[in-house]
Amino acid sequence: MRITFCQGVLAIAITLNLLILYYILRLQQRVLRRHRDHTQPGSRQQLAPLKPGMTILIREFEDFENYVPDVVRSFIRQNPEVPVVVAADHLPYPPMVLPSTPNVKVLILKPAPDQPASASRPEVYVRTEYVALVPDGVKADATFQLERMLEELKAGQGKVEMVAAPVHSLAPLQCLNLKVSLRRWTAEYTAAPPSSKVCTALRGEAVLLLHTKDLFNLSMPLAKPLLTSLFIQTSLREWAVRILDISFSAVHRPLFTSSHNQWKADNLAKASHLQLFQDFGIKRVILEDGKEQWFGCSKETPRCFGTIHDDTPEYLYQNRWTPPCCLRALRETAKYVINVLETSGVRYWLEGGTLLGAARHQDIIPWDYDVDLGIYLEDIPNCELLRNADSGSVVDERGFVWEKAIEGDFYRVQFSEHNHLHVDLWPFYPKNGLMTKDTWMDHRQDVEFPEHFLKPLVPIPFAGFLALAPNDYRSFLELKFGEGVIENPEYPNPALKRMEKEH
Ligand code: ZN
Ligand code: MG
Repeated sequence: MRITFCQGVLAIAITLNLLILYYILRLQQRVLRRHRDHTQPGSRQQLAPLKPGMTILIREFEDFENYVPDVVRSFIRQNPEVPVVVAADHLPYPPMVLPSTPNVKVLILKPAPDQPASASRPEVYVRTEYVALVPDGVKADATFQLERMLEELKAGQGKVEMVAAPVHSLAPLQCLNLKVSLRRWTAEYTAAPPSSKVCTALRGEAVLLLHTKDLFNLSMPLAKPLLTSLFIQTSLREWAVRILDISFSAVHRPLFTSSHNQWKADNLAKASHLQLFQDFGIKRVILEDGKEQWFGCSKETPRCFGTIHDDTPEYLYQNRWTPPCCLRALRETAKYVINVLETSGVRYWLEGGTLLGAARHQDIIPWDYDVDLGIYLEDIPNCELLRNADSGSVVDERGFVWEKAIEGDFYRVQFSEHNHLHVDLWPFYPKNGLMTKDTWMDHRQDVEFPEHFLKPLVPIPFAGFLALAPNDYRSFLELKFGEGVIENPEYPNPALKRMEKEH
């Protein structure tokens, strides 16, 4: 069959047309797909800019007894247009009967699998420039209360980020200063002078007003207990709150009518405290009256940190030091073990990093994870607990666990069966004037040394008591770690993690 010139041109034209059609279709499909991605529920949506004015946000109340509907009504009576958001962890039960106007919304903070993420995000609900955090059972007596708060906040621009109006309740509102050190896992409250009005934390009940943007720039803006959580976060950002001479009245105080409900509420508050400190990594709280609260490990719980790799515990990577509960347990174990050694006639001395800490500041190095002691090998038979440890681990009457380490010829005393914080005991023996041993760890400080350092041993303050150390311990430490080691602190493995300045 012969193809004419015309037929050829036609065939080429048809092919070209088909190709063009194909490309147009593909392009169209791509545009459609992109459009669909943008309109899918839960996809990133741009929020409208914040409107002037404020939103009333009620966050803390109990399902089983609350006055939230009264609170909402009292604010709406003053200003029917005011946006109100009731934020709850889950749908309140029994159901809450709130005024059914479009400006009153319930926000459930727990995400639901059939809802977009935005449905549980508070910043989607609070769309005004300012937000007032209102406790349960509080009544708006007059519109000027919130308006005056707003004026005060605007007037204090730059000096304070929040203003607080006390709630007339059983306890007066206290002005406190709060210092949080994440590095030390510690929050410390101190009472501000009696006349102070500018604080970094409050204790008591208050209506708090702040910029919506500020609130939602916090890491956990609505975590409970609300004020405790808020001031931990704001004090880390060096924000301040001013106590105003405007106050709100409480409709119901005490909030709970029965002692059973009060007990339930107290238990829930305790649980949310615990959860909050766990979430924020705070293990020690010092209250304004000097009392201490601990949220860290104990004899009944495991050690706060896992197995150490390359001499660098996990908390150093988090830019934190040894949890204070662990330091406390290490001090207690060291004091106890040293007492046992002294009474049973085992010569010992502070070793390695432990001696370094004693020389530097009479305590365990704030980022150390164990305590090391040297002992005379020949003295081991004097101590029953060490003798028994040779044939398996022994739990003594105080709950400490004595055992021969699996890693080599040394002993280990653990804080408890659950909590493996420990003191290591390294047996040395003299050989030609040098102290030596049979198991060596891959540590710079693990070297032989002249016995004259132990003749005599000298007392040194350590961890709140007197312990024994090699004489001339400066030379001893410089022999082991290098010159200037006392004056120049560094982490155990600087190649992996170097020390940084605390901000
Ligand atoms: Zn601990
Ligand atoms: Mg050590």
